[in-house]
Amino acid sequence: TPPASLADESLFYAAVLAIYLFSPLSVFSLLFVTAPYGKHSRAGWGPSIPAPISWFFMESPTLWLSLLLLPFGKHRYNPIALSILSLFFLHYINRTLIYPLRLSRFRIPGGGSGLPISIVAMAFGFNLFNAYIQIRSVTHYTEYGGRTWTCGIWTASRVAIGLGIFFGGMAVNVQSDLSLLRLKAKGSGAYKIPRGGWFELVSCPNYMGEVAEWLGWAVVAWSPAAFGFALFTAANLVPRARSHHKWYLDKFGEDYPRSRKAVVPYVF
Ligand code: NDP
Repeated sequence: TPPASLADESLFYAAVLAIYLFSPLSVFSLLFVTAPYGKHSRAGWGPSIPAPISWFFMESPTLWLSLLLLPFGKHRYNPIALSILSLFFLHYINRTLIYPLRLSRFRIPGGGSGLPISIVAMAFGFNLFNAYIQIRSVTHYTEYGGRTWTCGIWTASRVAIGLGIFFGGMAVNVQSDLSLLRLKAKGSGAYKIPRGGWFELVSCPNYMGEVAEWLGWAVVAWSPAAFGFALFTAANLVPRARSHHKWYLDKFGEDYPRSRKAVVPYVF
């Protein structure tokens, strides 16, 4: 087994601590500055890159860096670690490969300006950082404790609940992203009021699904690193959902369903 050096251990724990510190900073800054892409695009954030290329590039470290780091983990052959990791890969195969393909399939010539290079660079940096934390956590720094991990009633229930939240969240996320892309294509690139399913309850079911996914992953992985990522995802997407919701109310006024919340049904 390749040993972890003291430097790697220090880097890992510092990175896990950092993700917890970034989360309140993210909420605070996003209350004042909405990330300038999509509905909130504005000039001054650098040249823009077509959306499919941006998403492929900025999410790609979650696949290539993860695969590069995997052989260095002491649990690289552990079926539990590999099962947990497969959930991470499942999400990122969708986000890095399938979602950009869908973006280009539903792309309207001249519709949508792409993402500014500054956002792409920040997201790329975050994905490098997060892939490192999550992969090292699952494949090296988490202890699985032999038989009890799989056989204990508490563990079995926790894993079952976590898997339910993860797959439920993923279904809502993928389905809502697809509905929005279809809506955009149908409106020839113009924004419309999304209708049906979870959209009747919240403005951003795709964000709701994404937050649920990472919460579910954290319940399954049961590590500080995974809970840090779930927290960071909520810290990023809940303020953005609030901005989207306000944007819908401003744009569509009385036509926008009043009972709809931003991201948590009936609550927020
Ligand atoms: P949005 O909901 O803002 O947009 C998704 C797509 O739908 C875009 O192509 C957008 O076009 C289009 N669209 C959105 N609303 C409408 C509408 N009312 N009418 C027509 N078209 C519409 O999501 P994001 O682009 O922010 O995110 C995409 C995915 O990435 C989501 O699943 C999200 O959960 C995930 N993500 C995860 C993050 C994380 O921290 N883990 C961070 C950010 C995103 P346009 O781009 O032109 O607005």
